[in-house]
Amino acid sequence: MESGSHIDAEICGYQGCSRTSSAQDGHCVLHSDDTDKDPVAFRRAISEVIRAGVQQGDAAVFSGVVFPEDSFDLLAAFDRCGVSCDPRNLEIKECKFPQGILLRGSGLSELHIHGCSGSEIKIEQINARQIKLASNELDRLQISQCRVEYLFFGAYEAFNANHPQIRNVFMLHCECHRFQMSHTHIEKLHVAGCSVAAGTHINGGRHRAILIRDTSFSGPTHFEELAPNDYFVIARCPIREPRLFSIVRCDLSKAGFNGTDLTDVHFSANNWRRTGSTRVCILDHQLAIDKKPLPEFLGPYGDISLNECAETYRQLKTNFENRSNYIDAGAFHFCDLELRRLSLPRPWRWFSIYSFYRLLSGYGEQPVRATAVFAVALCILAGLHLLAGFSVGGNVVDYTLSELPRHTSHWREILQAAQLAFSHLTLRSSTSPEALATPVNTALWMFETIFGPLQLGLIALTIKRRVRR
Ligand SMILES: [Zn+2]
Repeated sequence: MESGSHIDAEICGYQGCSRTSSAQDGHCVLHSDDTDKDPVAFRRAISEVIRAGVQQGDAAVFSGVVFPEDSFDLLAAFDRCGVSCDPRNLEIKECKFPQGILLRGSGLSELHIHGCSGSEIKIEQINARQIKLASNELDRLQISQCRVEYLFFGAYEAFNANHPQIRNVFMLHCECHRFQMSHTHIEKLHVAGCSVAAGTHINGGRHRAILIRDTSFSGPTHFEELAPNDYFVIARCPIREPRLFSIVRCDLSKAGFNGTDLTDVHFSANNWRRTGSTRVCILDHQLAIDKKPLPEFLGPYGDISLNECAETYRQLKTNFENRSNYIDAGAFHFCDLELRRLSLPRPWRWFSIYSFYRLLSGYGEQPVRATAVFAVALCILAGLHLLAGFSVGGNVVDYTLSELPRHTSHWREILQAAQLAFSHLTLRSSTSPEALATPVNTALWMFETIFGPLQLGLIALTIKRRVRR
């Protein structure tokens, strides 16, 4: 019995705490890991910390506290203990929230949460000068309907593989003056319906998915060195000053931009994907043609039409052309027209101006294809001239289908037919060899005089585009 009373009288084992220990683990009601705490004693202890903080200055500091209740409402505790302090500074460090904590509906000057761990932190309807969150390990962090002058997510130590991780961050309907996120380890970041008035900087760290939607950006905005494994989506975001908006050294192989105007956004040193015959460059393209069920995290983002995605490509093409990056501009141009072709009803996908443009020149991007098409057409037309008949210096050459030349002994006539086709394709009048005056030859001549200049023009276009790179 004596040892029991001895423990009761001991001071709490948490460094710097002068309360008497009441729990088996030698800690006071605030610092004990025991989650089955006496709620009255715990709330009284919380009130004492608040009063002490208010008396000493303007900050309430919660250090190493283990919160036992489901979504403990910490700011309500301020009201309950009847002290008034303005402005209020609140620091929460190295605390544990096995059941989560709630900060709601109050004005704060500074809120600083760092080194904490637990299930969830909810920050709702708070007006604050500054909210800083660093090096926390949580399942979920939700910040909603807050107005903050400066919002910071980050780490105070150098980033490494064992960095504390937050599995899900939801930032919803917040108004920030400045927003910074540096070297965070966030599995899924979801920002929606927010606005940033004076500047955003999101850089470094490790992420699985980043989804930013319906969020307006003003002032200098920088996305730097981000490489999410699964998704990197900036969707339907109004960008007020696009020339101050930059995406630099990011992995954009899984990037989506549906509904965000990219025409004047600054891109540099990013990694874009080029895969498959359709040269998929962005996530939107994959989503628009796949129509696969999407991870829940992306929500309704996946309903992207081919035309919407083509519009994004068109903006990227204009953007990169304006910056004289013709290689990437060419790839985006190809994808733009390819999606416009695929958006046509089924027969027209194969018989439209887009499908012919693709067939004849790879949308003006493939000189080898354009030249090969010309060469193949020349061979076929030479064969047709052998069948339709022509004369060389008075000698008539006219084969039937079954006797089309199969031996090298006919090389001379084959070359003469090719010469005739070539002269027609290049709009030169030929007196020798000369086609016989038949309706078939007239039709051939008409086709050649239209197709020839067109295909030569396409070859010139593809070469011009290639050379300008
Ligand atoms: Zn203690």
